[in-house]
Amino acid sequence: MDTAPQPAPPATREACVAADAADPLRRFRDDFLLPDGVIYLDGNSLGARPRTSPGVAARVIEQEWGTGLIRSWNTAGWFELPGRLGDKLATLIGAGPGEVVVTDTTSLNLFKSLAAALRIQQAQDPARKVIVTERDNFPTDIYMAEGIADFLGRGYTVRLIDEGQPLEAALGGDVAVVALSHVNYRTGAMWDMASTTSLVHDAGALVVWDLAHAAGAVPVDLRAAGADFAVGCTYKYLNGGPGSPAFIWVNARHQDRFWQPLSGWWGHARPFAMEDSYEPVAGIGRFLCGTQPVVSMALVECGLDVSLAADMGAVREKSLALTDLFISLVQARRGSHPLELVTPLDRARRGSHVSYAHPDGYAIMQALISRGVIGDYREPQVLRFGVTPLYLGYADVWDAVDALFDILDNRLWDAPQFRERLQVT
Ligand SMILES: *Cc1c(COP(=O)(O)O)cnc(C)c1O
Repeated sequence: MDTAPQPAPPATREACVAADAADPLRRFRDDFLLPDGVIYLDGNSLGARPRTSPGVAARVIEQEWGTGLIRSWNTAGWFELPGRLGDKLATLIGAGPGEVVVTDTTSLNLFKSLAAALRIQQAQDPARKVIVTERDNFPTDIYMAEGIADFLGRGYTVRLIDEGQPLEAALGGDVAVVALSHVNYRTGAMWDMASTTSLVHDAGALVVWDLAHAAGAVPVDLRAAGADFAVGCTYKYLNGGPGSPAFIWVNARHQDRFWQPLSGWWGHARPFAMEDSYEPVAGIGRFLCGTQPVVSMALVECGLDVSLAADMGAVREKSLALTDLFISLVQARRGSHPLELVTPLDRARRGSHVSYAHPDGYAIMQALISRGVIGDYREPQVLRFGVTPLYLGYADVWDAVDALFDILDNRLWDAPQFRERLQVT
């Protein structure tokens, strides 16, 4: 529990404007391009566009690809991109140089991490065949665990922790690896990484942390926690662009202990020797698989550079101040609306978004989006509001909550066009 006394959130719109004027992170807003009339509360799903992205895309496409052609693998640093960007990202998650690569998707990186963890356990304690994760985890994390257990067969299974069940209850001598999201995608609830990692280690298991909703949003210190593996997205709080490649971190103590099974030529010790057998390169490079999406990957640097220029402690403080403000404003106006806060009030357990359950959540979110207040909806019934301190301010939160209650108080959501389900919510 965070026991430091907290300043009360601003109580009027004027006080919000004043808080914005005094905000040391305010200048970072100009590093992003957001359309007029939009309050963007979905940076936890797809981050906003850095100002520098079009220039970098043009450089890569026109000069590096257009003029450099294949020479650019050597002359424009294309081949080094996964490791070079990984080293930059490492500083945001408490990792060291040579411990992170930017590559593939979070789903694929989960597969590699889980496979690696199972392989380590197979060598030292082969009775451990259970992958533990949460029923409430992001679906792909569960699905990938199921996929690898099914592929391995021979008694490998997935055990899901139910809501309210302590992690300890799921740990035992049969558990090989525990895969947890540091910040839950739906509720915003956050695990204490250091104590949870210790708990898992004491039970003889390894831990994979999914940092999808944590990297760039909350301070993360993987090395201090002594964690084993971590994966995460660059298109959420790191603003890398739609579908930008993910990242994977492997504690240096594990890197050379096994091959990960997606043993493509980019992870080979000598990819251009064109040998007839796989030999993994030493270090994190063996977590690469095939040729990288260079244009998309190059854009990752634009978002990373903004995050690296900001102080993570200040980002965290502002994130908490903004989520406090959101929660207090909703509480004050909630009345008899069936809005239920599903995000922890305890600051130490809260990530960087606020979620509310409401039986008509889907239509309410569509009504909000129609007036430029963009959050998202997650089954079941959850309205989700992402807080990104680099480009959101106090007055934005004020105005978003104001729009929410205009829609609720006047039942403006209750219209056929807001009930139509879109493919992506
Ligand atoms: C967003 C998210 C993912 C996304 O995985 P992709 O492979 O990039 O689609 C995975 N896990 C968590 C916890 C997420 O929040």
